[in-house]
Amino acid sequence: MSEQNVPFYHVNAITVDAIGEPGQRVFFLQAKDENQSLTFILEKVQVESLSVAITRLLSEVSKKKTIVDEKDFEFNEEGMHIQPPVDPLFRVGEMGLAFEEDDQKIVLVLQEVLFGEVTAENARKIALRCTPGQLAALSTWSMELVNRGRPICPYCNEPMAKDHLCPKKNGHKH
Ligand SMILES: [Zn+2]
Repeated sequence: MSEQNVPFYHVNAITVDAIGEPGQRVFFLQAKDENQSLTFILEKVQVESLSVAITRLLSEVSKKKTIVDEKDFEFNEEGMHIQPPVDPLFRVGEMGLAFEEDDQKIVLVLQEVLFGEVTAENARKIALRCTPGQLAALSTWSMELVNRGRPICPYCNEPMAKDHLCPKKNGHKH
C-alpha cells in the first residue's frame, strides 16, 4: 500500500471500542489530533490482528533500540472508551504499520474497504502518526476488548478464541 499523498494526522490519542450486545458488537477505532476526532469501523478480527501486528512491530524494533518499556503496555480503561461524535469516516479494509526511524513514530495507515464503487484507485486512505507508547497501550487494550466478548473455557479459564488450544488439555482443541 503506497503511503504517498495520504493525508496524515499527528495523533494525541488513539483507541478502539465496541458498542452493542455481545455477539453483535460493532468495533470502532478513534484517533484524535489537536483539532478533531476521527472514527472508523473495524471488524473484530481486524482489532485483533492490529493488536498482534503492533506487538510484533514493537518487539522487532526493540531488538535494535528500546522504544517502549513494560509500563507503556498498560492502559487506563477510563481513557480508552471512544467519545461522541461516533460518526465513522469509513469502514476499514487494508491496514499498514510502519516504524519511522527519523522521528521514532509509528504510522498506521487505514484504507477504506473495497466494496461496490470503492476501488483500489479511489478508496480513501489516512495515515495516523502515533508514538510507540500510544500503540503499546492500544495493543493491550485491543486484545482485552476482543477477549471480553468470548466465552470462558471451563478447563483453563481463558477466553476461547476460534481455535482454542487449551493448555489444560495439552493443547488439544475442544
Ligand atoms: Zn481451555
